[in-house]
Amino acid sequence: MTSYQGSGPGVPGVYARLGVKPVINAQSWVTALGGSLMAPEVLRAMQEASTAFVDLRELHLAAGEVVARMCGAEAGLVTGGAAASNILMAAACMTGDDPSKIDRLPDSTGMKNEVVIFDGHRNHYDSNFEVAGAKLVPWGFARAGKPYQLEEAITENTCAMAWIAAPFMRDPMPLKEAALIAHNRGISVIVDAAAEVPPPENLTRFIAQGADMVGYSGGKGIGGPQGTGMLAGRRDLVSAAFENHLNTNGTRAGVGRSSKASKEDIVGLVTALQIFMDTDHEAVWAAWRVRAAYIVERLCGIDGLRVVLEDGDTNRQGPQAVIYFESRWKGPKPDEVRAALRSGDPAIHVGAGGYGDEINVVMTNVQPGEERIIADRLEEILSGPSGERSTR
Ligand SMILES: *Cc1c(COP(=O)(O)O)cnc(C)c1O
Repeated sequence: MTSYQGSGPGVPGVYARLGVKPVINAQSWVTALGGSLMAPEVLRAMQEASTAFVDLRELHLAAGEVVARMCGAEAGLVTGGAAASNILMAAACMTGDDPSKIDRLPDSTGMKNEVVIFDGHRNHYDSNFEVAGAKLVPWGFARAGKPYQLEEAITENTCAMAWIAAPFMRDPMPLKEAALIAHNRGISVIVDAAAEVPPPENLTRFIAQGADMVGYSGGKGIGGPQGTGMLAGRRDLVSAAFENHLNTNGTRAGVGRSSKASKEDIVGLVTALQIFMDTDHEAVWAAWRVRAAYIVERLCGIDGLRVVLEDGDTNRQGPQAVIYFESRWKGPKPDEVRAALRSGDPAIHVGAGGYGDEINVVMTNVQPGEERIIADRLEEILSGPSGERSTR
């Protein structure tokens, strides 16, 4: 079976020579731990790409067609990450194809530069839209938003509605409904879906629900180079995004120029995307489930803890072992457990749930065999002097 997760890190000398120790990543595709591992085919494709010069614009257009096809969109573009996709989507909505506006960003004076965003969707990546020169206008409250609140937030200076699709994020209404309101008012809908794939169906889902453009990370679940992303959507907007990336007609580098994608990046992402589409995702999920079940099995029966395998919940990134701490638990607190895992050798990183009160052992990046190391360490920390294991 081809795995888009690569074949495991071993003990790479390149890190050893820099004095950097590999970690066990049971926290999912987080950037801070390296995103994902590329399949050997992706690395070979990047190496091959590095052996010849090409017209980068031509390469971008050809790769964009592959992205578009996979996303069921009119057009696509490889970017330097989902954060870069956010910058470029906002820029495209402000400038359209007007070269003088593209030249002026991030100074958006005189342009329709307001981007409305549901208050409950605010997150630290929404600063990306501001980097392009947009002004964020929140609507609704943290936990709820009504159609009239969205209507009221839209003014004659609004160019787009931003929508964030992310685990643990609560939508105020279906995207389809919000998109209808936005389109009736003549503004575009841009979606940050950085970490929403797999499942592969999410590549087409947001456009089908009314998004004009949607951005993804290339280096998370798709398994492309960590420094890549992509966006897909309406041809006119993607073309405007492209100009804001390279600004080939202008006098100044585009606002997206600092997050460019190299020829190797572009080829790597396209290759990863093709492997991703050919992957038997059910088999991959089944393998994750087996590893999660192993950890649950190893940890069940500790008094005061509820350890369960969670699967199929759309808010969770794949099957995972989740540890809930009950009120009678006398052992280390969740953050102490996470700190103990991190301070070991190898360091183990796990998730914390939406409120930091759980331990989520996420399997997407756990390499074969690492589940044993994780279970050993958790068992040691949780049933040590303070944790009591009851007899089963
Ligand atoms: C990870 C993430 C990003 C940034 O993605 P990069 O590909 O690392 O630039 C943006 N938005 C959300 C919601 C994310 O989860």
